[in-house]
Amino acid sequence: MRSYLIPSARLPIGRLTAGVLAFGLLPLALLTYFAITLSSEAVGQEVETRLHATASLSGSVVSQELTGLSDLVESYGSRPSLVQSVEAGDQERVVHHLRELRAARSGIYTTFLAKPDGTLVEIVPRTPSIVGKNFAFRDWYHGVTSSGRPYVSELYRTQAAGHPLVVAAAVLIRDGRGNPIGILVAAYGIGHLQEFTDDIARAQGVVLKLTDQHGNLVAQPGGVRKLTSQRADPRVGAALDGRRGITTVDTADGSRVSVYAPVASFGWTVTSSLPANTAFRAVGELRSAVLTIAGVLALLLLAGAVALFRSLVARRRAEDAARRQASIKKAVLESTTEGIALVSPDLDVAVANAAFERMLGEMVGEPVSLDDEAIRDVSSRVAERTADPDAYREDAAAIRADPQRIARDEFVIRDTGQSFQRYTAPVTDDAGQPLGRLLVLRDVTAEREADRLKADLLSTVSHELRTPLTGILGFAELLVNHDTDQETRERYLRTIHGEAMRLTSLISDFLDLQRIEEGHLRLSLEPFDLREVLDREIELFGSQSDTHDVDLRTPDEPLRVVGDRERLTQVLANLLSNAIKYSPSGGRVEVSSERRNGMVRISIADSGIGVPADQQRHLFQKFFRVDSSDTREIGGTGLGLALSREIVEAHSGRMGFESVEGKGSTFWLELPSGPGRADGGSRRVLVIEDDPVAAELLAAQLRAEGYAVENVSDGEAGLARAIEDPPALICLDIDLPGELDGWQVLARLKADPTTSSIPVVVCTGGNGRGKAATLGAADFLTKPFSGEQLRETMERLLPRKQGLVLVVDDEATVRR
Ligand code: ADP
Repeated sequence: MRSYLIPSARLPIGRLTAGVLAFGLLPLALLTYFAITLSSEAVGQEVETRLHATASLSGSVVSQELTGLSDLVESYGSRPSLVQSVEAGDQERVVHHLRELRAARSGIYTTFLAKPDGTLVEIVPRTPSIVGKNFAFRDWYHGVTSSGRPYVSELYRTQAAGHPLVVAAAVLIRDGRGNPIGILVAAYGIGHLQEFTDDIARAQGVVLKLTDQHGNLVAQPGGVRKLTSQRADPRVGAALDGRRGITTVDTADGSRVSVYAPVASFGWTVTSSLPANTAFRAVGELRSAVLTIAGVLALLLLAGAVALFRSLVARRRAEDAARRQASIKKAVLESTTEGIALVSPDLDVAVANAAFERMLGEMVGEPVSLDDEAIRDVSSRVAERTADPDAYREDAAAIRADPQRIARDEFVIRDTGQSFQRYTAPVTDDAGQPLGRLLVLRDVTAEREADRLKADLLSTVSHELRTPLTGILGFAELLVNHDTDQETRERYLRTIHGEAMRLTSLISDFLDLQRIEEGHLRLSLEPFDLREVLDREIELFGSQSDTHDVDLRTPDEPLRVVGDRERLTQVLANLLSNAIKYSPSGGRVEVSSERRNGMVRISIADSGIGVPADQQRHLFQKFFRVDSSDTREIGGTGLGLALSREIVEAHSGRMGFESVEGKGSTFWLELPSGPGRADGGSRRVLVIEDDPVAAELLAAQLRAEGYAVENVSDGEAGLARAIEDPPALICLDIDLPGELDGWQVLARLKADPTTSSIPVVVCTGGNGRGKAATLGAADFLTKPFSGEQLRETMERLLPRKQGLVLVVDDEATVRR
């Protein structure tokens, strides 16, 4: 089969679906990942910037506030009037300055003057209980006295009335020579600082914490009510060391992002922080939005993949069904004996079954492959080989010229005589679009042969039956209606007899042929000398013709064969009759024989009309007669040769001929040569017996019955003779001298095809009837046996072909 237009590869559904999923899900996952990472980074940077900005802002606000405070205190401390009042011990003036200073800036809680040793001199608002107390332990005292410069102290709880938490800005008051004469201090309530940081924190949405230079908490959301050290906080520690940075800290409320920084020139610290979930809320929202979208997309993709998978499965099922349909169609196409092909409009062979290519091969005389050769080329090669190439080409052109043409034509291949029928019709698809042209080739040789046989039979019957019948009727009528003299009557009767014989042989040929065709040809095989038959037939046919010389050119030796004598006689008679018939102008008919390779070959050569070369291959066909004017004049049925060949082949032989038109023909047959001598073998008995008395007795009894007898006294000699010259029957003793006893001889006789059919009678004084029968003996005689017993056995095994025949037939003529 060339092609069946079916999808050959199955869809890799699993791989396709996995591919779609991989190509869809992978980019989606990457997109999601990058969206989340990049946005997290961006938001992280934004948060960091915000926290840093807030920390810097609040640091600088605090710094300004403290600087302003410090500057204010310094400016009061250097007032000449205050210096004079302190030098002069004018308490009223001092208090006056202190009150002014306190009022100069909101947030100043108390102002006071201390001696250089730290003893409180005056305080506003006045708190007499602590006047005269020494406060050299305070940080402001250490700060201002150790540096000699204005100093802002750590946070502490003041002993002044109300005891709030404050920081103090302190300056030294110096006399004209620069010697310290007192310390001016303004204690500043941290509520103000708290307000600043609260405002900034609120505005920036962050949490701000402020510590002093020793890590004490100064401001935090909700305010500071007691002294709390934050030194332990690593952010505060780092800022106290002058470092700034960002960090994430885990607290009881969750993790927080913090920025820490020192407050310039005061050594304070500021920490600005945000809960991580607030800081990264946007990221979280973005992440969940991205994840949601990615999830939806992934689901859609999965659904798409499932849909794809299902549609692919459906498609594969459809393809499987189509493939199965195609394979059924293929099987159907391949199981037909007709060659079928579909040729596309541009002359490509789309579909062709094996029978189509095979038939094309038979047409062109060699194998054809439509894969390698264009149909147009094959067609022109076929044209060359047909009996009528022009007609073939015309038909082909007409088909090509008219795409709608439906045609059935027939052509004969010249050399092989094969007849092919070609049917062609356009093929369209469901939509009516042309698919091409269907070509169906059918080998109709057998049908045409049958047609021919029928026609030949009819013409033979009409001619070959009528002709003798006409003679018989005509001469019979003459005899009935006219008085004729004796001589004429005898001539008429001979003619009637001859024609009746012709009819008989015609009818028996018919019957024989029918028997052969039905497989009922029975051969009664016997060994005989074919030479005897040849001699007789040559004499018969030689005497029938005055114009022919029938010669037997063959060595004077027997031609032994095993066969059906009558049938082989029929064959030789047919060949001799043909040789004479088909050399109408007379001449020599030479019969020769030879033995080679275990075969006997008989050739009958004539110098007659011969057989035209183009008709020779039909010669052995039934009813075939050479179509020539010469042959037509010669009567015949065309059955003789067909029958002859069947008979010869049934004998495992061969038959053939060589012929040259106008020069003559030589017909030959070969038969397997048979064993031994055929003459008299039918009445010759071989006695294998070592006892001379017993042998003599048996020979005498057999001779008395008319048999020729040969005696040998051991098994080896008996076997050799039986093969060399097969007798009609063997009498075999069992106790024999030499290597072989009677049983062994019997077994070998039956094993050798030359002797296996010779009946063997075991004649012995011992037992062994059963063994004899098993080994194939025809009978068993126990010594001593009577002449009567022996005769009976011989009669049964070798019946004489003579005696009474009972004829049972209702036709009186037949009985006569
Ligand atoms: P019949 O002789 O009855 O026609 P056969 O079967 O014997 O039938 O022969 C078939 C055909 O073969 C004959 O019709 C004849 O044309 C041809 N033929 C047979 N023998 C010879 C021959 N010796 N010489 C020429 N043609 C022969």
